[in-house]
Amino acid sequence: MTNKTELFYLTIHEAHELLKNREISSEELTKAVLDRSRRVDDRVKGFVTITEGFALEQARSADKRLRNGEANPLLGIPVGIKDNMCTRGIRTTCSSRMLEKFIPPYNATVVEKLWETGAVMVGKTNMDEFAMGSSTENSAFYTTHNPWNLERVPGGSSGGSAAVVASGEALYALGSDTGGSIRQPAGFCNIVGLKPTYGRVSRFGLVAFASSLDQIGPMCRDVTDCALVMNVLAGYDNHDSTSIHETAPDYTKALKADLQGIRLGVPKEFFVQGMESGVKNVMEAAIRQLETLGATVDRDVSLTYIPYSLAVYYILAPSEAMANLARYDGVKYGYSADAPTMWESLQKTRQLGFGAEVKRRIMLGTYALSAGYYDAYYLKAQKVRTLIREEFRQAFEKYDALIAPTSPSVPFKIGEKAADPVQMYLSDVCTIPVNIAGIPGLTVPAGFSEGLPVGMQVIGKPLSEEMLLRIGFAYEQATGWQKKRPSL
Ligand code: GLN
Repeated sequence: MTNKTELFYLTIHEAHELLKNREISSEELTKAVLDRSRRVDDRVKGFVTITEGFALEQARSADKRLRNGEANPLLGIPVGIKDNMCTRGIRTTCSSRMLEKFIPPYNATVVEKLWETGAVMVGKTNMDEFAMGSSTENSAFYTTHNPWNLERVPGGSSGGSAAVVASGEALYALGSDTGGSIRQPAGFCNIVGLKPTYGRVSRFGLVAFASSLDQIGPMCRDVTDCALVMNVLAGYDNHDSTSIHETAPDYTKALKADLQGIRLGVPKEFFVQGMESGVKNVMEAAIRQLETLGATVDRDVSLTYIPYSLAVYYILAPSEAMANLARYDGVKYGYSADAPTMWESLQKTRQLGFGAEVKRRIMLGTYALSAGYYDAYYLKAQKVRTLIREEFRQAFEKYDALIAPTSPSVPFKIGEKAADPVQMYLSDVCTIPVNIAGIPGLTVPAGFSEGLPVGMQVIGKPLSEEMLLRIGFAYEQATGWQKKRPSL
């Protein structure tokens, strides 16, 4: 296993063993990863900022801690962090002109937790501007390319995070998920991604998109790694008033290789019209595999409100976004355009600082909240949100988890959907209901269609991350899809 030429493709738990037994140092591992970036990132374009000097410093201090006998699992392991999580002294751009030069004066709670555990940050990853998008094509800087096929998108908005994990430019990454932004890119890049229960991981220091939907989570090479990262991220934080007051379990304890007695449901509404047949075939095989592992599967589940999720999301998310983005006025921080008067400066700042998709969302949200339309749109969407949540709650009285595809298609071509926002929005149709309900969703590699990755989604009730990880773990142990690596 000590294939030192491919250190950059190790899982966290494999690298941890080598670090603990002093077969490699964190500096050596970090250099291997940085070197990999030098060779592939001009093609992948996964990072906005590569923090080489900072990473090497962190690696050396991790090596000191390792020599002193410390052995926490993330110590000395290279990570990529989505560029919407604040890193003190290191620019945090949200892939927007608005924040291109913004250097946060504080760390997000998740970043603080990673520093405490001795993580090594190799860079800040590219994303759709302000996390609005499904392909990274909305980045103000450049599009990230899918390591499995460079002409294809890596998904989004955490496309950079997914791509750097898949390409060996980081051992794992952090992403954020408002409507699918961890799960869809993870599925597109053949890695594991978990969107935790709303409130399970602190949002303090995450640049806000839609505050009632946003959640940070891990993007990893297997389920065990995901559990290890969750052990560090999860927990109450008094800086985030929506954070859940409950101690987090040891997620690795949940990992078992069989699914005896587990009851699964497959809601037919997730198999939407227009879904690619290749995705359907992969899902059918995956579901049979879950049965072989001992689970009972009910294929005849119906959740009648699911089809309204996308409409609800595109009222609520833009409404929250337009309020959250009001702070970019050219005065407090970020980009500021020169103009003779304050109002002109404000206008010009927002005109030049925001890209087209961000402006579209601000307009949608402003419209939905305006007098006369509020009841017809925002209020109604909130009511339907309650119905969706309630329908999921009832389903979880009968099932331990629900199974669905992560996306209706394999990674699409760069440019294919860029001119058609509705087509782009539809690529999250399977992930959005989960954010609407505030429940956890896991995606695991489930196979390939036309040589491109397909993800299987496992959805559970609030705080059932252990159940989801158990199902994902049993599945990956039996299939091994997560071990496949792209040829780059
Ligand atoms: N693609 C969805 C959107 O554009 C979800 C993005 C996300 O989860 N951040 O809003």
